[in-house]
Amino acid sequence: MLANLPAQPADALLALIKLFAADDRADKIDLGVGVYRTTDGATPVFKSVKGAEKVLVDTQDSKSYLGPEGDMGFVEALKPIIFGNDFAAIGNVDGMQTPGGTGGVRLAVALAKSAGVKRVIMGTPSWPNHAQIMKDLDLGVVTFNHARDGAVDMDALKSAVADAAPTDAILLHGCCHNPTGIDYSVAQWREIAALLKDKGLLPILDLAYQGLGDGMEEDAQGVRIVMSTVPEALLAYSCDKNFGLYRDRVGAFYVMADKDKLPAIMSNGASLARANWSMPPDHGAAAVRIILEDAALTQQWLAELDDMRARMRQMRDKLAAAGTAGSVDMTPYATQHGLFAMLPLSKEQIEALRDDHAVYMAGSGRINIAGLTAGNIDKFIAAVADVSA
Ligand code: PMP
Repeated sequence: MLANLPAQPADALLALIKLFAADDRADKIDLGVGVYRTTDGATPVFKSVKGAEKVLVDTQDSKSYLGPEGDMGFVEALKPIIFGNDFAAIGNVDGMQTPGGTGGVRLAVALAKSAGVKRVIMGTPSWPNHAQIMKDLDLGVVTFNHARDGAVDMDALKSAVADAAPTDAILLHGCCHNPTGIDYSVAQWREIAALLKDKGLLPILDLAYQGLGDGMEEDAQGVRIVMSTVPEALLAYSCDKNFGLYRDRVGAFYVMADKDKLPAIMSNGASLARANWSMPPDHGAAAVRIILEDAALTQQWLAELDDMRARMRQMRDKLAAAGTAGSVDMTPYATQHGLFAMLPLSKEQIEALRDDHAVYMAGSGRINIAGLTAGNIDKFIAAVADVSA
């Protein structure tokens, strides 16, 4: 039976980690995997998380099961942060904890399928796991071009929405688009929200990088605009980037719907969670809850997030200041958002960057902006100029 299984392609980014580790050139640069790095190239545990973990160790008196919805204190504490104080009080949003943002996306898409959704419309390129989750759930995918010439391709989005069938849903990145870094403006979000409302198209919002773009409030504008316009929406959330909790798998899933219908909808969420992972892991979500329930820890966390954002902004500004590097126009990177940007390089050029310059990036041309530092950015720009000249 098992011998029939064909080998699956290795995850390209994980393969890149191995190649990078095996490279003994001292000045190698890792722009591959999507984690934040300090100027020393480290991905340390946040001080606020360390503080919360101390409280957790001292006060936790049981590790007994919590149930498929996880830590509801965590789920509630995130609501004003994602939806805003006014919106959070309306009461037409309910949620549950999930294993990472990936669990949130999985649950959102699976729930949409249970409700009758047959296809998901999404912009490409996208986080590769989006398509993988749709495939695993046997859902159709309709793609449109996310960006063109360094800007959002609104025409492509509009025509995809216009062509949508009643059993379609649309997946949208809330902020810090992965992999392009090209986000919708507030005006574009308003336009999109109105289109979704007119068409009656269910949005699945993926908010995995709140706080890594322009700020916690600013990065939530898009999802708030959509949710205050349409009657129903699903939202997947990740705390793995903005709290640096990656391996602890901290995420959530929220549903906005008719208040009366929410309990029945959430019972579907719980039953899907039960079949997929039964219950989410507790530790990281409990640490987030402790931070959010404590004013001093919250201040400390927000300051840490400010530092991360400022460092990435500095790197973006430095790239843009270079103007062009070979055939690559670096100026748009200053106005894009989050951890990622795309370099318009060919497969051969990306390989040459690796072989000739020890610069490692995804085969798609995606770079992790946080892999750049004051110490390596000039070398990176020169390397891009060299391979693309
Ligand atoms: N959505 C997007 C767009 C992402 O880039 C990621 C992480 N790479 C996720 C969701 C899931 O994040 P995690 O499961 O690590 O919380």
